[in-house]
Amino acid sequence: MQATTDFTGSQHTKDRTCIDLFQFCIPNAHTSSTTTPLSSLSMSSPYQQPLKIAIIGGGIGGLFATLCIRHHAQGRPVEIDVYEQASEFKEIGAGVGLGINAARLVHKVGIGEELNKIAGKRDGIWITFRRFDNSEDIVTVPLDDKQTIRQAPVARSDILDLLRHTIEDRKAATLHTKKQCKRVEDHGDSVTIHFADSTTATANLVVACDGIHSNVRNQFVQDKPIYSGQIAYRATIPISQIKDWNFPSYSVAWCAKHKHMLVFPITQNKVLNVVAFVTAGEDKVQDVVESWTSVCDRKDVEKDFEGFDAPVQQIISLMPEKPSKWRLNDREPLNQWSYFDGKVILLGDAAHAMLPHLGAGAGQAMEDGWVLGRTLGEYLHSSDPESLGSLQACADHYQTVRLPRAQRTQRTSRIAGNTYEMQVEDMVNKSYDECLPLMAERTKTRMQWVWEEDLDAAYDKVKQSASGEVKS
Ligand SMILES: Cc1cc2nc3c(=O)[nH]c(=O)nc-3n(C[C@H](O)[C@H](O)[C@H](O)COP(=O)(O)OP(=O)(O)OC[C@H]3O[C@@H](n4cnc5c(N)ncnc54)[C@H](O)[C@@H]3O)c2cc1C
Repeated sequence: MQATTDFTGSQHTKDRTCIDLFQFCIPNAHTSSTTTPLSSLSMSSPYQQPLKIAIIGGGIGGLFATLCIRHHAQGRPVEIDVYEQASEFKEIGAGVGLGINAARLVHKVGIGEELNKIAGKRDGIWITFRRFDNSEDIVTVPLDDKQTIRQAPVARSDILDLLRHTIEDRKAATLHTKKQCKRVEDHGDSVTIHFADSTTATANLVVACDGIHSNVRNQFVQDKPIYSGQIAYRATIPISQIKDWNFPSYSVAWCAKHKHMLVFPITQNKVLNVVAFVTAGEDKVQDVVESWTSVCDRKDVEKDFEGFDAPVQQIISLMPEKPSKWRLNDREPLNQWSYFDGKVILLGDAAHAMLPHLGAGAGQAMEDGWVLGRTLGEYLHSSDPESLGSLQACADHYQTVRLPRAQRTQRTSRIAGNTYEMQVEDMVNKSYDECLPLMAERTKTRMQWVWEEDLDAAYDKVKQSASGEVKS
């Protein structure tokens, strides 16, 4: 299915997949009709009528959630539309490391082999932390990467393409571009979505995957992104251009007080993803935004990383003249992820934007997608009205499974960044050399709880305790 750009609110023509769904689901559905009034869709009998789901935002979170919902709703009538504000479904530049927790889910939706093909390949090591001035080892963390299901450091554009192509191949959703959601409006059994181009769409369920600056979240929550006190320079470099590169298959971080440079190979180890973190006061970042549109001169990176060892200097010399410069923000943990009686649900950065220091934000968004998909699948397949019998019950279940873990990742991402830059309370007044053993100790097993989670077992546990409560 091709991405559509011709959506015109209530006048839109349904694509073939949607028409087929309607024919299958609604007796006497008129295929020539342009709309189906949502008021005629009884939410108390989801088995008869297609559940209309609008995904706002076509980033990693939105596209993966689409696949998960389709995967779990197999055989049940669901109609999914994805509304992306950009003119195409595309991520530019840079890489993203997907932990094994996220890779496991990609395998579950049936595209694990494809993920392995686009990923960088580790070789027994996840990351090595090095002194900034002479590259001596601080701590090196091993990794079992011989398994089929393994970590996947990928180019953002590659993972997004994989998700989008899979959606198209499976006819999982209708994809719309140039659709910036401004706000949502409650109509009892449906939600109207208002777009920047003055068109509207309706859905039974809106899943807001519109990132850290989520317009949907902003409609319900009065908070703002919080500046972390750090910026990041970002670039990618072909590894073939680097002379005498000794780290072909794993991540390296050169750590100094208040700054560190992280690199890891992506795209079958052909490309090096570079993220250079620097602590910078609010006054120094007024012109910096959280986007690829914000760039700087390479000289700024050279200046910030003066005194770092030769491999770092070489990497900087290979960065583009105008590397990307990011303001790193997160949000305070949010304790309510659904609104309008469960008809609006937040997912990914919209629900729990976090700092990048655990390399876990995209993985957490994917976990959201899996749990939401499973929850909605159960809702649509269930013959037991006590079990997830309403969208509010689904939203509650999704939040109960996901919120504690996502918030823990948010909190510990902050701590990890401050540990790598030796800014946590008990390191601030210590010398660089005194900080190193503390950093090594706290880093060795930092990722275990993120990677080793059995998400389906966590889901079942919440389900069991909820049914225990119903019975008692
Ligand atoms: C420097 C840096 C490095 C990182 N490294 C890693 C890493 O290694 N591993 C990892 O797991 N995570 C990493 N992250 C975090 C990760 O990038 C995010 O957590 C992840 O992209 C969140 O996905 P999302 O789909 O929720 O949001 P986004 O990726 O922000 O996607 C949101 C989408 O919604 C669209 N959109 C926005 N507003 C609207 C609107 N109003 N209407 C319609 N569409 C809209 C956007 O155009 C975009 O396509 C890193 C982040 C940063 C900043």
